Amino acid sequence: MNIVLLGAPGAGKGTQAARLVEKHGLCHISTGDILRAAVKDQTPLGLKAKSYMDAGDLVPDELIIDLMKERIEQPDTANGVILDGFPRTTTQAVALDGMLAGLERPLDAALLIDVDSEVIVGRLTSRRTCRDCGLIGSTADGDACPACGGEMYQRDDDNEETVRNRLDVYEKSTSPLIDYYRGSELLVAIDGDRDPDVVFADVEQELGL
Ligand code: AMP
Repeated sequence: MNIVLLGAPGAGKGTQAARLVEKHGLCHISTGDILRAAVKDQTPLGLKAKSYMDAGDLVPDELIIDLMKERIEQPDTANGVILDGFPRTTTQAVALDGMLAGLERPLDAALLIDVDSEVIVGRLTSRRTCRDCGLIGSTADGDACPACGGEMYQRDDDNEETVRNRLDVYEKSTSPLIDYYRGSELLVAIDGDRDPDVVFADVEQELGL
C-alpha cells in the first residue's frame, strides 16, 4: 500500500506514520527527517536547504524531487511506503505521480490528518523530539525521552514565529493538494484533534487495514 500523508505541520503525521510502520510494516519516508539529517551532516543538500528550513519556508521543488526520486527507488520501498511531508506543492504531486507510474506502483490513498491551526500552534511550540530515537513528545515529557532516555530537544523551526510562517506556507502551497487528491478520488480525511490512539483506529478503518 502506498500512502501520502497530508496535513499541516504538527497535525500528527509523524505520529500516525510511526504507528503504521510498526503495525503494518510500511516504509516511512519523511522529507523533513531526511533534510534535518542532511543539515546535521552538512552535506551539499543540507547546506542548500538549511536557510529555507530555519525560516519555515519550503525547500525548492527541484531539490526535493531529486531527493525523493532517489529515495523511492531504494529496495525497502517495494512493500509500500508512507510519504510524510511530500508532496507539499502541486509540482511535487505531479512529479510523484510520474515516479510511481514509472515504478508501476499506484498511490492507494492520500490521508489528510485535519487539525485547526490554533491547536497546531500550541502543539508545535510545546513539541519536543528525542535526539536518539526520534520519539515525538512534548514539554510534559521533561528532558529525558520516556522510551529510550535520550535527550528531548526542541526543533529549531518549532518556535512560534516560524510555526506561524510554516502554517501560512501550508495554507498557500500545500492545502491545494487536498483538492488535487480529492479530484482523483484518493482523499481520505480524518479528524486529527483527538487522542492519537483514536485517530489511529480511524486511520486503520478508513484504509481497510
Ligand atoms: P517537516 O518535518 O515535514 O515539518 O519539514 C521541515 C521543513 O523541511 C519544512 O518546513 C521545509 O522547510 C522542509 N521540507 C520538508 N519537506 C519538504 C517538501 N516536500 N518540500 C519543500 N520543503 C520541505
